[in-house]
Amino acid sequence: MFEYAPAPESRAVVDIRPSYRLFVGGEWVDSQGGTAHKTVNPASEEVLSEVVWATEADVDRAVGAARKAFGAWSAMPGSERAKYLFRIARIIQERSRELAVLETLDNGKPIRESRDVDLPLVAAHFFYYAGWADKLGHAGYGSDPRPLGVAGQIIPWNFPLLMLAWKIAPALACGNTVVLKPAETTPLTALLFAEICQQADLPPGVVNIVTGAGETGAALVDHPDVNKIAFTGSTEVGRRIARSAASSGKRLTLELGGKAANIVFDDAALDQAVEGVVNGIFFNQGHVCCAGSRLLVQESVAEELLTALKRRLSTLRLGDPLDKNTDIGAINSAAQLARIRELSDAGEAEGAERWSPVCPLPERGFWFPPTIFTGVAQSHRIAREEVFGPVLSVLTFRTPAEAVEKANNTPYGLSAGVWTEKGSRILWMADRLRAGVVWANTFNRFDPTSPFGGYKESGYGREGGRHGLEAYLDV
Ligand code: NAD
Repeated sequence: MFEYAPAPESRAVVDIRPSYRLFVGGEWVDSQGGTAHKTVNPASEEVLSEVVWATEADVDRAVGAARKAFGAWSAMPGSERAKYLFRIARIIQERSRELAVLETLDNGKPIRESRDVDLPLVAAHFFYYAGWADKLGHAGYGSDPRPLGVAGQIIPWNFPLLMLAWKIAPALACGNTVVLKPAETTPLTALLFAEICQQADLPPGVVNIVTGAGETGAALVDHPDVNKIAFTGSTEVGRRIARSAASSGKRLTLELGGKAANIVFDDAALDQAVEGVVNGIFFNQGHVCCAGSRLLVQESVAEELLTALKRRLSTLRLGDPLDKNTDIGAINSAAQLARIRELSDAGEAEGAERWSPVCPLPERGFWFPPTIFTGVAQSHRIAREEVFGPVLSVLTFRTPAEAVEKANNTPYGLSAGVWTEKGSRILWMADRLRAGVVWANTFNRFDPTSPFGGYKESGYGREGGRHGLEAYLDV
């Protein structure tokens, strides 16, 4: 039988420089004392480039450039700021192939996801917030909502460019200037975005990109001339940042971890639910803050659903992220792979049963097969801790009330999914689930018009939609 096998996307579409400097005040500048670090392709361990880890002095310089640019940028009519944002959005669309390939190389995610999910959403966020830039005075915030000033923005490695868009687009629309720090393992698309800012003739200093690890982020958080911190990352680092921001009185939004329940009732369309469960936990290798990492299935259909789920998992293709056929790409780093292994081993040690389809793993790079744990108790670490990998914990329930009780039995509260044909049950569940978003008969759906954010230890503040503006305005 003829099998259709589209060619892998070529890495030749992207021109990666051997090393990068920092993007400050509209130009590429040398670091003052920072050391160079390699960034690798997690699917091959090939070195892609070298970036510098910015020092306190570099951060100070970037904040200075953002402060200098703030006066003119915030005084500019919103309609003018909108033009820049629209221009950036269009350039992102024009260069989306290059951006998608670079994202896949640096992150390990399948090209189908970076091309068809991440990049369209990145452009959509810039278009959406461009549309707000000249309407802030008419949005019921009072006649003259004001930008906060210089925003320090710190993002994780799982959706590097999308997290950048969630942060930079609303900040700029409101008239703030920014210093953004990408994650240490995925700096390259943020640096290409800096090039796009130049191409769009964005005034110097409105966007500054400083690469680095935790120390660079901490320097940004502690800088006295930063007015607001927007952080997406782990709950542990979020707590540390909250303490520091509290002592300096900075405004703060935190988008942190999750341990979402994907809840399947016995009246659900099971075929759809299987797809939703697979998408919920295996999309982006499970490196998703709102991943449906706990499957709660009603006891009467548990066996049927699990059989169908295992059959579906056996068809997933793991391998070269640049291959358009690939469903599951590489784990982003050796450190993250070690964490996934550690928690999975703990799952077995605590008595849960582990299952993966037959799935040969490539020799080089960081890989983990799609994995299901059954017989999971609520006290097990794999039921409580964020794995941030392709690992699903399966628990069962009998009644809707028990499903709610189990779903809410977590310190997190970012998202949840409900699968049922009963509309009234969806509303009943949504009222009771302590989660920032509840998806019904779908999962992992994002849209720039919808606010996104957590309850409890998943953070506070909202990104996206009109609520996302409030994080960057004094009203
Ligand atoms: P992380 O907290 O280790 O790192 C996130 C960012 O913070 C990185 O840029 C890192 O360099 C920086 N950082 C580390 N220490 C710092 C410090 N002391 N001060 C300032 N910055 C510091 O998280 P990660 O491993 O990169 O990302 C995974 C986490 O992100 C998961 O917990 C995931 O749930 C969460 N996440 C949440 C959302 C959301 O919207 N809620 C979205 C994506 C990811």
